[in-house]
Amino acid sequence: DPKAVDLRAAIREIPDFPSPGIGFKDITTLLADPVALDAAVRGLAAAARPLAPDVVIGAEARGFLLGPALARELGCGFVLARKPGKLPHTTVRAEYALEYGTDALELHSDAVAHGARVLVHDDLLATGGTARALCELVEQLGGTVAGCAFLVELAFLPGRAALEPRPVHALVTYE
Ligand code: 5GP
Repeated sequence: DPKAVDLRAAIREIPDFPSPGIGFKDITTLLADPVALDAAVRGLAAAARPLAPDVVIGAEARGFLLGPALARELGCGFVLARKPGKLPHTTVRAEYALEYGTDALELHSDAVAHGARVLVHDDLLATGGTARALCELVEQLGGTVAGCAFLVELAFLPGRAALEPRPVHALVTYE
């Protein structure tokens, strides 16, 4: 039973990384633990299955860790959003705000079929900027965001509000 596995205990907290005052949630310890890895993928799939997605989308780089395993568990394909200039074919782009400046994600313009139901996945929801950019890429191509599924949610940040009204699921929440 994936619900019986303590995913929170498998995530390591690194104080003051990457800067003072930030408690970084290090998921490498969870990924390295076969029982926690299996429970994470199955837990994400259980949350996402009722949303009936056709495809899973994940962002470079940590969305690539569990995204393809989650897609396979759901019987879906996986689509990649990457940092600018990395994808070889024609792309669409969405910009998003960082603490200082902006960043962008690109998606192949034929990667999401018109009307497809897309599950947005990332390892962690913080301010929601990354996931919101993913939603905008999907919607630019005429897809529908079926919902968003994260391993971790930092609920003291406004990520969930940034994604409204789209459904949001997270397996581990830090208040
Ligand atoms: P947001 O765009 O929601 O502010 O930030 C989420 C993005 O930043 C995700 O792609 C995630 O990988 C990364 N991120 C921010 N903080 C953390 C953290 O504490 N741990 C991990 N693993 N990723 C983080």
